[in-house]
Formats: sequence, structure tokens, C-alpha cells
Amino acid sequence: MALHTKILLGLVVGAALGITINLLTGGTAGTEQFVSSVTEPIGRVWLNALIMVVIPLIVSTLSVGIAGLGSLKRLGRIGVVAMLSFLSLTALSTMLGLAAVNLLKPGEGLEPSVTERLMETYQGDSDAMGLAEGAFGIDLFVRIVPRNPVQAAANGEMLAVIFFALMLGIGLTIVGRENAQPLLNFLESLGHVTIAIIGLVMKVAPLGVACLIFSVTARFGFEILFNLVKYIVTVVGSLTIFFVVGYSLILWFVARRNPVEFMKRARVVILTGFSTSSSNATLPTTMRVAREELGISDAVAGFVLPLGATMNMNGTALFEGVTVLFIAQVFGVDLSLGSQLIVILMSVVTAIGVAGVPGGSIPLLMMVLGIVGVPVEGIAIVLGVDRILDMCRTTLNVGGDLVTAAVVDRFENGRRGPTSTIPE
Ligand code: ASP
Repeated sequence: MALHTKILLGLVVGAALGITINLLTGGTAGTEQFVSSVTEPIGRVWLNALIMVVIPLIVSTLSVGIAGLGSLKRLGRIGVVAMLSFLSLTALSTMLGLAAVNLLKPGEGLEPSVTERLMETYQGDSDAMGLAEGAFGIDLFVRIVPRNPVQAAANGEMLAVIFFALMLGIGLTIVGRENAQPLLNFLESLGHVTIAIIGLVMKVAPLGVACLIFSVTARFGFEILFNLVKYIVTVVGSLTIFFVVGYSLILWFVARRNPVEFMKRARVVILTGFSTSSSNATLPTTMRVAREELGISDAVAGFVLPLGATMNMNGTALFEGVTVLFIAQVFGVDLSLGSQLIVILMSVVTAIGVAGVPGGSIPLLMMVLGIVGVPVEGIAIVLGVDRILDMCRTTLNVGGDLVTAAVVDRFENGRRGPTSTIPE
């Protein structure tokens, strides 16, 4: 049986069991005990094992990728195409989300008693996830350049790690073949070993995925889902439309690839993104699929994908935009067109700084709420369903990375890979 089939099976079985337990027991202490002492630890061990190799993977592939480009001019060109693609995809998806939330107005019909209850229940969580000091703002940009790359890696500051890897790659390009070769050999070998480890970890993906989804569904408050159904439909509907229509159009017209074939080959990435809710944890899989299944060149995949997993969050930006407007509607705050433009801008900018981990966007989302004058504590209303939305937005995030890699690859290398529609 192919890996993606097994993962899908794990997802379906885990979700079905979780929902059944939830409906039968209604989330009693026994269920909680089972989830927190059995399925959640197993799921997290698997997730940890994936994230464990992300730093060596980013450092090795990004620096080798840049060295493989051969010249700084080419790096500049690819960098510009990749950034343009990231930014335009993110801006477009946010606009789609905003259009949907203005059209459907999910926040206007919500019962005040429901909001009150949700706020009471999730206030603690929102306080806990609150704004860590210096987590964003100007400081976020200053910290892109790390004083100490080892410390940045230890703290999981991905933008800083990326910056260091970029510099390493540029250094390798400058010093000339002879001087670069020993370090290049080491980094290449590190990359191979990392990929081998990921192969092993992905072998147990079906079990990991089943445990993760079971933990979410067995605990989940389906009653909240019911109350927030319009909001959820707005978020998930917009994400789906962007994934299906937006990505297909870009793949077909810009990357010149067959979208159906492309997504079929990328399904392990989609499933992994969905079940882990983490761009970082999915990166190793994205990398392998881009090279082996989609025929994207090593240099382009090695450059675009680590950057994308950290900076390109189309789904997250869309979600941020919709959620800010939803909470504004719930509280009766009228956001003018100007404020909505600020929401778009802030969603795009903050999405770059969001950590690619489950729930990574919540602290930055709270910042955007504050900036446009929407009550920050309103975040509590959506926290109860966030995990489900996180799974969906992460799927769009990782999909967007692959789409961008295909776009860059087309401009850099012309016809490539099995899904290309450009004639031989
Ligand atoms: N979980 C998302 C990701 O890893 C980030 C977020 O929106 O919370 O891509």
C-alpha cells in the first residue's frame, strides 16, 4: 500500500474513532485521561521527530541550494521571483477571505449568550497565548539577523536560521570551488542523512496521524462548531476556493503544470500538512515530494521550500483577515475600507513572522486585532475551533510553497517534471 493511502487511512480511522468516543462519552474525564496519556503523547512524539530534523534540513538544503545556483546574480533573480510569488499569493488569498467575510457576515447573527459563554471558557487560553514581549513589531525584523545562530536555532527562530543559512550559501558561492568543496560535501551529506531520517519517521506517519486526529476529535466541542458554523464555513470555504481555483490557475497559466496531476502527486504533503497543522513539520515531506514526485530542481526546491515554510503562509493570512473581521462583526465594530486595507496589509506582513507550528498565528493575530481597534479578548470566541481551522490553513500554506517552487522552477529551468504542460 502506498504511503499516502496509509496516511489517509490513519486520518479517517483516527477521526472516526475520535468522533465516536466524543459523541458516546461527551468528553468525560476518562476520555481526557486516555487522550492526554496515550494518543496525544504518541502523536507528539511523531511530530517532534519530524521537527527534530527541520533545522539541519533548512541549513543544509538552503545553503547547498544557493551554492548550486552558482552565482549571486541568479540568486537575486530567483529570490525576487520567489518573494513576488509569496507576497502576491498571500495578498490574493487575504483579499478573497475578506471578500467572503464581508459577503457572508458570519459575526452578525451570533447570539450574545454564545459569545459570552465562549469568552468565559477560553479567556484563560487566550491570556496564556497572549502577546509575548518582543515577539513581533520592529523587534521581529531586528532579530532576523541573529547574533548567535546556534542560539537562534535552539530557540526555533526560523527567520534567523534562514538568514544564517542564506549567508552560508552566499559565502560558499564567493569563496570559489576549491575552498567551498569540503564544507559543501559536509552539508550535502548532512542533507542526505536528514532525508533518510525523515523517510524512517514518515514510515510511522499513519499511526502518528491517527493519534493526532483522534486527540483533536475526541476532545473537540462539537457544540461550539455548531454555534460558529457560519464563521467556519467562511474560513474553510475561502481556503478551499483558493486552494482549488487559485492554485490551479497559477499552476496552469504561470507554472505551466497540470494542476490535477500536480496535486495528486503532492497528496502526501497535503495530508501531512492537514494532520500536523505545522508547516515546519511538513517541510521535510514537501522537500522530498518536490524533488522526487514533481521533478523540481534540487537548487530551486532547496532555496524556495525552506523559505516558503517559514515566510509564505497564504492560508494563515486569509484566516487572520477573516477572523479580524468576524470578531469586529461580533462586537459591532465597523471597519471602514481604510481599516480593511490595513487588515490586509497587516495579515500579509504578520503571516511572514508566524512560526510554522500549530497555533503559531494566534499571538500575531491578536496584534492585528489591537492595531485596528477590535477587542483583543475576542480571540477567545474562536479558540475552541482553532485546531480544525489550523489544519485547513496549514494545508493551504504548504500547498502554496509547492506552487511557488513550481513557478520559480518554470522561470529558471523551463520545462521540467512529469506534470509540465510545456511540450518537449
Ligand atoms: N499552523 C500554521 C502553520 O504551521 C501556522 C498558523 O497559522 O498557526 O503553517
